[in-house]
Amino acid sequence: MGESAATGGCEHITLAKSKTGQVAYCAECESLVLSVGFISLRLTTEALEGLSALLQSATTNLRNFMPEQAVDTHTGQRPSEMH
Ligand SMILES: [Zn+2]
Repeated sequence: MGESAATGGCEHITLAKSKTGQVAYCAECESLVLSVGFISLRLTTEALEGLSALLQSATTNLRNFMPEQAVDTHTGQRPSEMH
């Protein structure tokens, strides 16, 4: 009934993978597994979308605290003077 320890029937499909972590989908459980380092989070598709939006907001807001990195002052500063 409530025994979910056995993972023999699960087939995880890797949706995305990077240096940071990876996201896998299990069709049988209809859930997603987000793995970052040693942490593994089980999410619903709804939760993943919410988390994605949350992280995007955090990234955007982070730039407000790091204006020097957000604005590229090295390129496009000088107008090219060509005749
Ligand atoms: Zn599963």
